[in-house]
Amino acid sequence: MKAAVVKSLGEPLVLEERPDPLPGPGQVRIRVEASGLCHTDIHAAHGDWPVKPTPPFVPGHEGVGIVEALGEGVTHLSPGQRVAVPWLGWACGRCEHCLTGWETLCEEQINTGYGTDGAYAEKMLAHADFALPVPDGVDPREAAPLTCAGVTTYKALKVAGVGPADLVAISGVGGLGHLAVQYAKIAGATVAAIDISDDKLRLAEELGADILIDAREEDPAAVLQQHGGAHAALALAVNEETFATALAGLRRGGKLVMVALPADGIVQVPVFSTVLGGTSVIGSIVGTRQDLAEVFRLHAAGRTRVVYETRPLSSVNECIDEVLHGRVRARIVFDM
Ligand code: NAD
Ligand code: ZN
Ligand code: ZN
Repeated sequence: MKAAVVKSLGEPLVLEERPDPLPGPGQVRIRVEASGLCHTDIHAAHGDWPVKPTPPFVPGHEGVGIVEALGEGVTHLSPGQRVAVPWLGWACGRCEHCLTGWETLCEEQINTGYGTDGAYAEKMLAHADFALPVPDGVDPREAAPLTCAGVTTYKALKVAGVGPADLVAISGVGGLGHLAVQYAKIAGATVAAIDISDDKLRLAEELGADILIDAREEDPAAVLQQHGGAHAALALAVNEETFATALAGLRRGGKLVMVALPADGIVQVPVFSTVLGGTSVIGSIVGTRQDLAEVFRLHAAGRTRVVYETRPLSSVNECIDEVLHGRVRARIVFDM
């Protein structure tokens, strides 16, 4: 089978022929049909974060495919079934976080495409308990971006407690943001979309955004304040300055949800306005298996639209370049 491998951090990925992996106890082998390119995969390949992955590794945590072999003890999945393999590749199931519905905070978790080989490959392994069935009728190429971009933004809006009378700012309308706009609309909110690309702003409008803010020409915080300030802002752009701007665009009691992970990101939080304004700054990391099941259910019901372009895995390095230069409409999906 073919896999795109990070041999050394910061170097182009190498396409490699590898033997089909053998599923261990509790695992399944999946024939990958579709694999999304999340910006996180680029951070992984570049070693952008304090906790670095160890090369060689195969990135990819928006994997969707067909179960083809079962490891010992797997009884709830069967060959032929379509599953999705998210970032949360495994969690212990016993710790305080796992037991309180926060498996995404498990200290022992294993992350797909980071701590273990991921979905930039024709075949991959997954822990059966964390490979989520994809509902019938959902196209694998649409299921792929939902598996990270979808669940992450759906969860971030839950964390912010967004309601129908709220103004929600979506800062960055890329892979994550284009789905965030839709989930915020489903929650009934008024949506302000912020980006620095005409195409992305046009896409946000098509997907239901009410207010469009071009951060090249206007100060997003000032525009949000003209509308009374945002009840919630999702920081999805890979640029730490946008976090401070989103924070400054909150109304009193508003919540900034940090989601993007720019390398070495530091945000200054002004004490005075945070205290007097009762504002919150919250981090949010992906979503649970239950969140992903809800994301799939919404999509199967026809309530979300996934915007994607398909590419062959062999073009992985060019694709990374396109994402970094903001030339992708929303998401690239490798069609296997
Ligand atoms: P992306 O490249 O598809 O989207 C980023 C968007 O930000 C683009 O539309 C770009 O035009 C826009 N942007 C860039 N500069 C901007 C600026 N100054 N103002 C406004 N918009 C700007 O990336 P993505 O795949 O959506 O991922 C975004 C970030 O989220 C990455 O850092 C990724 O690692 C992170 N991420 C976090 C989680 C999590 O669980 N917390 C999950 C997935 C991804
Ligand atoms: Zn991701
Ligand atoms: Zn745990």
